[in-house]
Amino acid sequence: MRRHTKPIEAIVLHCTATRPGRDVDIAEIRRWHVDGNGWDDVGYHYLVRLDGTIETGRPEGFQGAHVSGQNDGTIAVAYAGGVSASGAPSDTRTPAQKAAILDLLDELAFEYGAFDVDGRLAIRVLGHRDFPGVAKACPSFDVAADYGARHAVAAAILTGETDMDTKPFWASKTLWVNAVAIAAAVAGAFSVDLGLDPEGQVAAVAAIMGVVNIVLRLTTDKAVAAK
Ligand SMILES: [Zn+2]
Repeated sequence: MRRHTKPIEAIVLHCTATRPGRDVDIAEIRRWHVDGNGWDDVGYHYLVRLDGTIETGRPEGFQGAHVSGQNDGTIAVAYAGGVSASGAPSDTRTPAQKAAILDLLDELAFEYGAFDVDGRLAIRVLGHRDFPGVAKACPSFDVAADYGARHAVAAAILTGETDMDTKPFWASKTLWVNAVAIAAAVAGAFSVDLGLDPEGQVAAVAAIMGVVNIVLRLTTDKAVAAK
């Protein structure tokens, strides 16, 4: 097995292509992949079983075997199911599986995610079929519709994490507004002569806030792009 050479930048969802009620576990899938395919280990990093139990497969630090050419820098999460009783692609996720997937994506976002432009922790989440050139239905549902292009934002909200919890303190606009207001008030109270007429002082404060806004937007954009 190879270690990742890139930082983790996306979570990829899969299904096991098993029929409803078939409770496959990680040991069985490991046999498919090791004995059947001749791989070193199970291809997925996590399996979400029918009852929502999350089982660990390949260690996260190693590249999985789940999307051709896209194993470096991605974590593979599979759920048990994905085809109907007749074998057609079907979203068979149980309520327990849906909840467990959200929990797991949330954890992974906090482990690998970056702050998005709104200061929330987020990571890209894709379905196997979303990659170019993949002619499979896996994971048999629209990942973007359920989790958004950056699912973990939703997960952060669901778990009660707010902007204030996750945003670095210096990225708070309120902080800067108040800091500038206090500085202006203190200057006024102590009659510090800023050498500006009243209109000039208002313009100076507005200009400082404009610069702060631009810097915050640029730095938070960068934090996302860096991933
Ligand atoms: Zn797949």
